[in-house]
Amino acid sequence: MSSKKKDNKKNHLKNKERERTEKKTQKENRILKNKDSFQKEAMHPKARKKQEEKKIAREHLKELFQLADEQFSTDQARAQRYIQLARTIQMKYKIRMPTELKRKYCKHCHHYIRSGTNGRIRIREKTLIIYCEHCKKYTRIPFKKNNTVKSTTKKKQETKTTIKKQNISKQKEV
Ligand SMILES: [Zn+2]
Repeated sequence: MSSKKKDNKKNHLKNKERERTEKKTQKENRILKNKDSFQKEAMHPKARKKQEEKKIAREHLKELFQLADEQFSTDQARAQRYIQLARTIQMKYKIRMPTELKRKYCKHCHHYIRSGTNGRIRIREKTLIIYCEHCKKYTRIPFKKNNTVKSTTKKKQETKTTIKKQNISKQKEV
């Protein structure tokens, strides 16, 4: 009888734990579902509008750089004008210039740079060195920091995936 009683107790505890985990997962799911909609609803309409504007501005930046790349071989002045426009948009909407685009123009005179034609792009001791033939100046971009940032984001993603896996396994057990 005693063993049966123990079994009953164990079962009861297990059931309680299950209920707890189920409730937790349900809560987490609800929070995840509501988070995005809630954030959008909680935002001030002006802030929401600003965010949308910034999103559009980022797309414009990419388009302008593409145009500069296309026009560079025929008209270098026009390519520079596109980059000026991109910079004005970037400053007006207070957005960060994407790292891929940062390496495509001179920091000093804002000319579009294509290595081999009007500039040089070299790598030396973990720094990217861009030489501009118009103003004869160098820009140095260390890419050691970026690497570390990438690795941390990767780690975060990995942890997220492991958590997801654990959750899935827990659900299977339940
Ligand atoms: Zn320059």
